Amino acid sequence: QIYGDSRINSRGININVMSQCLPLYEQVHRFFNHSWLAGPIINGELIQQGEVMRVHAPFDRVIHVGSTYLADQSIAEQAVSIAHHAFVGWNTTPVEKRAAMLDKSADLLEEHRSELIALCHLEAGKTLQDAIDEVREAVDFCRYYAHQARHNFAAALQLDGPTGESNELYLQGKGVFVCISPWNFPLAIFAGQIMAALVAGNTVIAKPAEQTSLIAARAVELFHQAGISGKVLQLVPGLGSQVGPVLTSDERIAGVAFTGSTETAQRINRSLAARNGAIATLVAETGGQNAMIVDSTALPEQVIKDVVASAFTSAGQRCSALRVLFLQEDVADNMLQLLKGAMAELKVGNPCELDTDVGPVIDEAARHSLLKHIDHMRETATLIAEGQLPLNVTSGHFVAPVAFEIQRMNQLSKEHFGPILHIIRYPASKLDGVIEQINQSGYGLTLGIHSRNETTSRTIDSRVRVGNVYINRNQIGAVVGVQPFGGLGLSGTGPKAGGPHYLLRFATERTRTTNT
Ligand code: GLU
Repeated sequence: QIYGDSRINSRGININVMSQCLPLYEQVHRFFNHSWLAGPIINGELIQQGEVMRVHAPFDRVIHVGSTYLADQSIAEQAVSIAHHAFVGWNTTPVEKRAAMLDKSADLLEEHRSELIALCHLEAGKTLQDAIDEVREAVDFCRYYAHQARHNFAAALQLDGPTGESNELYLQGKGVFVCISPWNFPLAIFAGQIMAALVAGNTVIAKPAEQTSLIAARAVELFHQAGISGKVLQLVPGLGSQVGPVLTSDERIAGVAFTGSTETAQRINRSLAARNGAIATLVAETGGQNAMIVDSTALPEQVIKDVVASAFTSAGQRCSALRVLFLQEDVADNMLQLLKGAMAELKVGNPCELDTDVGPVIDEAARHSLLKHIDHMRETATLIAEGQLPLNVTSGHFVAPVAFEIQRMNQLSKEHFGPILHIIRYPASKLDGVIEQINQSGYGLTLGIHSRNETTSRTIDSRVRVGNVYINRNQIGAVVGVQPFGGLGLSGTGPKAGGPHYLLRFATERTRTTNT
């Protein structure tokens, strides 16, 4: 199995997308007038009652994509009871059977690829490339975790012991897991968390970001079709502020897998800690203040291509995205000139058009907070370059890519989740200071290094505390099983999604000693 086979590799070679683009695009188009319906899926039933949220395309508010019934507290409580009672049966289901359901889920995601790509366009505002990658990554997560479970969960580890005794160590589920997923990877991270928790033997309550509940509901329907029972996997779409606390304060919850902001992860952590009863597991992947360090030996054209990809792909709405570019001052002017040229070429606009590079941001609240930061930067920093907003789209949430030069990293008090790049010049003699600034931010997700001097890149690599380092390439688009992904410090609790140790966080270890 080769994971991520629709990706652009690190040399920018598009592996298989263009050849399949046009026929695929025609199929995707067939879903453009479709209207989807989502709601809580409890015990296998779609609940159509309560408050309804109408869903509009982020790139054009006139387009109505569907409607979502939001769960209230009593639905969330009901989901917990059902998941709690279903746990023992699922946890004792043979691992092979669970893994086969993950493989079947992957097959169904692939079968419904066109519809899922259409949903990623329409509900999440993803470009075609991003939408293709999204489905691919969700499929990869299913297959990868199925493989890991067969490898680590199926047979007990036999341990040496005294004669007359057999000693075995094996892995089991922990109980009910709540999976709280983000809108920026509405299918991939949504499926990744759920599949990891399920295959390890846990029952799951999935709480998707409210902005992307239609994609989540469609995926859950497919997972149920793959054989995962409606008691074992339930969906609770709703406002985080309403259903989140109900789920995370319930004593019957064994763990939470969360991807989203650092503040929300801290809130969940406090809520779990305040409960009585068992101590819950928290697997959190949060934000980043990701830097790239470029020295004077780097190849300028390669640097610019990787900077643009790292900062502006997905409209900068990736926690891996480049936020702070450190340029060695001897080459900075030349690099900035090239960057201006590259940014002028970026097409911002309707993500359904094939030549769009940068789509919309997710909603008006996101746009508002990004524009506020941009206004602040205009007053306190130097504008380097700014892209063009689309002329023909009036009711979408667009933010043009923009780059500002600042003096120090601590001018940024938080992560700005959009297409905004900050640039800092540094003298060659102050590389230590650069490393210190990055470490002092407290975040530790991705780091880019561009240098042809191996001693420099090794020194930076060994001293910057982050989860994922990318040398002489862009710093986004981690591939399942190839670049296990996750950070430390303010960026998360560590276990790497798409890595060989991830499932262990969802499991409990059991030792069995038998006197033979
Ligand atoms: N795994 C994604 C990447 O490598 C980022 C995930 C996220 O934004 O949460 O770009």
